[in-house]
Amino acid sequence: MSTGNDSNVSLAVNGGIDFGAKLSPKQLIALGYYLDDDTEIELTTFQQLIIQVSEEKVEEVKNSLEKVGLHVYKVGNYVKSLRTCNFCKGAEEEGMPTAMELNRRIAGQDVPFTLRPAYTGCPNACGEPLINDIGVIKRKDRYDLYVGGKAKGEDARPGVLLKSSLQDKELFTLVDMVLEVYRQNGRKRETFSKFVSRYGLDNLKTYCDRSNSINGETKK
Ligand code: SF4
Repeated sequence: MSTGNDSNVSLAVNGGIDFGAKLSPKQLIALGYYLDDDTEIELTTFQQLIIQVSEEKVEEVKNSLEKVGLHVYKVGNYVKSLRTCNFCKGAEEEGMPTAMELNRRIAGQDVPFTLRPAYTGCPNACGEPLINDIGVIKRKDRYDLYVGGKAKGEDARPGVLLKSSLQDKELFTLVDMVLEVYRQNGRKRETFSKFVSRYGLDNLKTYCDRSNSINGETKK
């Protein structure tokens, strides 16, 4: 996405999904290598650093940052990288592999407006899944999926439960469906929470149930 300077591109960078949002000195040095001394780096509430790099250097910067374990994402009308809790009770117990796989599948997908997904490893919900567009809460060995949360504005509100007690593969499929229905039916620059209100939770559930049964029949 072009910014104030037409030849510059915004990139979102973070350390990937781990026990908390952390960066190492090695990663910070790699990050600073491509940035001018007076460059401003935006630190977002979504565990991302936003940097500006010249258009012709995007691939080089991306490769170099990925070599030191940083993750680089597009900025704009895409699904953002998954915000997570700190997995304080352990990677397996809190489903870190599931969070990583969910992030791998959805981050960077095209959507009508920037979409913020969040994941949390237990019902304490430290990763604030209910005030993000898509929120996942792990409960024992199952996952609950919430949609349409909104943290900002006078119309801020918690997300609503779309489906509970999902296995990980069911969660991935359902999130894919939700993103697809938003892509197909969302208006240009319509936020996901507005879309959920306009389209209706029941319609969203019906769409997902129908798609699920069609896919199930196809597989037979
Ligand atoms: S949501 Fe649960 S697992 Fe994650 S940091 Fe909070 S208490 Fe720990």
